[in-house]
Amino acid sequence: DHIVSPIPTPDYDWQAADAAHHLHPFSDHKSLHQGRVRIITGGEGVYLTDDAGHRILDGMAGLWCVAVGYGRQELVDAATRQMQTLPFYNTFFKTATRPVIALADRLTAMAPGDLNHAFFASSGSEAVDTALRMARTYWITRGKPGKRIILGREYGYHGSTTLGAAAGGMVDMHRQGAVLPDFAHVMPPYWYGYGGQMSPEEFGLYAAKQIEDKIREIGAKSIAAFIGEPIQGAGGVIIPPETYWPEVQRICRENDILLIADEVITGFGRTGRMFGSETFGIAPDIMTLAKAITSGYIPLSAVLVGDRVADVLINETGEFYHGFTYSGHPVACAVALANLDILESEGLAARAEAKGARLRGKLAEALGDMPIVGEIRGVGLIGAIELTADRRTRRFFERRGRVGTICRDHCFANDLVMRAVRDTMVFSPPLTITDDEMDEMVARAARAIAATQADVRSEIM
Ligand code: PLP
Repeated sequence: DHIVSPIPTPDYDWQAADAAHHLHPFSDHKSLHQGRVRIITGGEGVYLTDDAGHRILDGMAGLWCVAVGYGRQELVDAATRQMQTLPFYNTFFKTATRPVIALADRLTAMAPGDLNHAFFASSGSEAVDTALRMARTYWITRGKPGKRIILGREYGYHGSTTLGAAAGGMVDMHRQGAVLPDFAHVMPPYWYGYGGQMSPEEFGLYAAKQIEDKIREIGAKSIAAFIGEPIQGAGGVIIPPETYWPEVQRICRENDILLIADEVITGFGRTGRMFGSETFGIAPDIMTLAKAITSGYIPLSAVLVGDRVADVLINETGEFYHGFTYSGHPVACAVALANLDILESEGLAARAEAKGARLRGKLAEALGDMPIVGEIRGVGLIGAIELTADRRTRRFFERRGRVGTICRDHCFANDLVMRAVRDTMVFSPPLTITDDEMDEMVARAARAIAATQADVRSEIM
């Protein structure tokens, strides 16, 4: 019953057309077109279908976004109704629409702390750009234009616009030109990779101390904001030890540096609370949201701003010269409202915690004894499996990323989507996933990881 893509002619060559004309994001096109591109044709619940008739369990919820699962008629209806009523109107120049007002009201009521003001855009990257512009504008307005530097973290991901990529810590993006002045980076709270002999708690304090040292080195008078994901998602689901965020919070407060929580992945229930900031006890000045705000059904992002920054922007800055044609798009906002109805009525945030604990338990049963599995970690329904050459010393494989890619391909061969970040397999299934579906996910993951282990057996201690 899915709406099928229109087929130009029965013998139309989708593979050839893709190879000839379609530039994919984050792809090496030469290797991409050596094999077949998997063309996804439909989705229902946690399952995708492709043009070869496979039924694929989507362990990533698309790109961490399809929180309520595929095929939710409520979201389709909300979009249809809004398109019929008013498909577009902008929110510049003294106008607004009802969906955008209702969503701003609802999001700020849901959000923790004093995040009482919402700005809208279409993507996480745009939300991050906006947050960084706001942070700098705040300091300029307060007469401290020297506070310009944005502190981010290695393996941080804050999107693909130039500002977002510069704030992020992905060296491959920096190497291709996404570098700007006034950005600096510190180490991530990645205990598995960098913790050495320290306990996770000790390491959390150590990683936070690196921020303090960096601030001393640069000078707090030059730093506008620290930006961090509560859990670094695209960097490999790096879950900070419990000691980390309270320290970061203290350091930012003491140095008068704004704290921006990038919740593009962790927002809307993924970590077992509605926002990752609640899970980790973070009180950000600014929060960025996207992805699960509409469960990915239509692009939308938001920047929530706390009273301290908003008061200055609203009462002192004058015009903030920033905005997008689609800021507060009424159809996207209507879909977001319907999506929040589902999240709340089905209690998906609270249920993610119990489901995640069950999923990790089952993964530990199925994979825990495999030599290639170094760690299984997670919070709520976001998690990671570290593939290792030596589980005792937590040694990585040579040429990092190679084994992860092998494993990702085995996952695909087993009709499971899991993403590889270096040699870390990451997962974030739809929050609607059932116990049976989780068991199926574990079974497929176990087959894929066993096959990977067999492929690289000679390299494992
Ligand atoms: N921030 C974080 C934490 C993200 O994970 C992402 C995307 O994965 C972004 C920002 C960028 O969002 P988008 O791809 O919608 O621009």
